[in-house]
Amino acid sequence: MTAPDSDLLIIGAGPAGVAAAVMASSLRMATVVVEAEGVASKLRSIGALENVPGGWSSGLALAEALQADLDRHQELGRVEVVSGRAVRVVGRDDRAEVVLEDGRVLAASAVVAATGVSTLEAADVAWVEAPECGRLAPLWRAAAGELEGRRIVVLGADRPLGTWLRAHPDAKVRFDVLFPEGDRYKTEEVDADLRVRLDLVERVTVARIPAGFRITAWHPAGGAHNFVVDTVLTNMGSKPAALPGLVVGADGYCPPKEQHPRVLVAGDLKGARMQRIAVAMGDGSRAALAPYYQAQAVPG
Ligand SMILES: Cc1cc2nc3c(=O)[nH]c(=O)nc-3n(C[C@H](O)[C@H](O)[C@H](O)COP(=O)(O)OP(=O)(O)OC[C@H]3O[C@@H](n4cnc5c(N)ncnc54)[C@H](O)[C@@H]3O)c2cc1C
Repeated sequence: MTAPDSDLLIIGAGPAGVAAAVMASSLRMATVVVEAEGVASKLRSIGALENVPGGWSSGLALAEALQADLDRHQELGRVEVVSGRAVRVVGRDDRAEVVLEDGRVLAASAVVAATGVSTLEAADVAWVEAPECGRLAPLWRAAAGELEGRRIVVLGADRPLGTWLRAHPDAKVRFDVLFPEGDRYKTEEVDADLRVRLDLVERVTVARIPAGFRITAWHPAGGAHNFVVDTVLTNMGSKPAALPGLVVGADGYCPPKEQHPRVLVAGDLKGARMQRIAVAMGDGSRAALAPYYQAQAVPG
């Protein structure tokens, strides 16, 4: 039996993973962060923030600050950032391991899984049929300049709709937002924006045609409405980026209390609610403190 390579392995360098790394490094834990797409990749596309303490109003600025934090702790020699995609987590009696896509196996005393969520696509939801459309672009990554002057349907009224509109207050866009009953409670924050037309639907069919997309929207009261648009953007929510080896609940999320004792879960991956940057940072910090106190045998 050999000693694990590090004290803490963190999968994902979003707000949760970076907070875990900074906390672990400050406790002098040898820390390795595995990140598939770049530090704080999601935050870089969030145009407007209004609930993150510290006066942060842009996701990009916060992402750059998190990157600078990781860089500083790397220079101190206590954090290593590995570019790669984790494909499995393994909890053992004496260690936890992370298997990477390229076959490498990293080991540590504990693992923090902080892989967040990924965007739901049409094929993931029952209320949209878009069989020939491939992957439709998500609204939250769309640039305002590409949308102005186009006839646009947005599928779903998830929170990124409000974020996008706040981030682009002068964008001359017109969104026809088709949303299911489950999204109704999220429409309040956008229903006064004159650039949005909200339309409750039971289901929607999207077909690609030479002029763009033919949309058929079925309404709960009965009857269908057909129209043609240039652009279809998705905004239907997200799905947990759970890795094999984690214990997954009925909703696909990873409840922290049910994991192997050496495997901790932090941030959006924990559950469908409470998905916020400040919460993810608190979770990440706690996840790093838990194995630290356990190693010190100090009650947590
Ligand atoms: C459009 C939009 C607007 C938002 N606006 C706000 C807001 O205003 N305020 C707010 O508080 N929250 C907001 N959120 C939510 C916020 O972004 C999340 O709550 C937060 O980013 C969660 O942090 P996390 O670290 O748990 O996950 P993420 O930020 O998703 O980070 C997960 C990281 O893990 C990496 N990863 C995933 N799988 C693997 C793998 N297998 N191997 C290696 N790396 C992997 C990803 O590349 C990513 O970098 C918004 C989200 C979106 C999409």
